Amino acid sequence: MYIGIDWGGTKMEVIGLNVLGVELIRHRIPTPREDYDASIRAVVELVKHVETATGETGSVGIGLPGSPNPRTGLIRNSNAFWLNGQPLGRDLDAALGRPVRLANDGNCLAVSEAVDGAGAGLDVVVGIILGTGHGGGIALKGRSHNGFQGLAGEIGHYSLPWPREGEYPGPKCWCGRHGCLEMFCSGTGFELDYRTTTGISRKASEVIALKRAGDATAVAVYDRYVDRLARSLALIIDLVDPDVFVLGGGMSNVDELYDDVPKQLSARTNLWDGEESRLVFSDSVATPIRKARHGDSSGVRGAAFLWKE
Ligand SMILES: [Zn+2]
Repeated sequence: MYIGIDWGGTKMEVIGLNVLGVELIRHRIPTPREDYDASIRAVVELVKHVETATGETGSVGIGLPGSPNPRTGLIRNSNAFWLNGQPLGRDLDAALGRPVRLANDGNCLAVSEAVDGAGAGLDVVVGIILGTGHGGGIALKGRSHNGFQGLAGEIGHYSLPWPREGEYPGPKCWCGRHGCLEMFCSGTGFELDYRTTTGISRKASEVIALKRAGDATAVAVYDRYVDRLARSLALIIDLVDPDVFVLGGGMSNVDELYDDVPKQLSARTNLWDGEESRLVFSDSVATPIRKARHGDSSGVRGAAFLWKE
């Protein structure tokens, strides 16, 4: 059995999959916040829950915000900041009595969709998270490509390329820098743009509803979002040239994006000085952009599949 855990901001979800990828059990609990020891106990509890209910033992993979530094094993880059600097992998190995695999949630999305989702059968799948945060992950032939320092696919804290007027230096990010892609391309960034423009706080889903009703401000916020997301993906195309992008997170449910972002990627656009160019260094762009087939379950399935050979 493959046991996967998705370590979310508000909930931790566990899943048990048999070797064919069929779901045996699923369970969720609130994420213990700001308490490292309670976090370890919560993982142990979730694994126990699955193993008691199924009567089987399994391998354990965990998708989390941030990632372990492969040299030290210490967690870094997590917005669950009480994990940063902690030897989470070693502590979980000891607590569970078996080796545990940890990966960034973007990598889990990519693995899940590469194994049996929207990128099934494709060699290079890039998962893009458009949720509370903006991040990415790469799956090569169905396996997580973590990179030398475990940073592969970490697009969210790259600065927005080809900044347009008013975008530089950009909003301050929780990581300490300004103008990170996360501040523009996450669902949070989308809401921030609307709030900055109007002075009114609305959920992303409400702004999308307004845009569909033809509200000019919401349309403008959405158009900027499409353009910024296209710039983020253009970087990845030039560097990795994936076979497919699979989008996850709340904004991935906005169906118009699957028409509008490819159009923007192929369009000639004014990148500052009035001269029109394409975002991708090519005469055309055909990279498919698809919604995660497993939706919100992609993270937890990908975590389980970290052990799939
Ligand atoms: Zn940042």
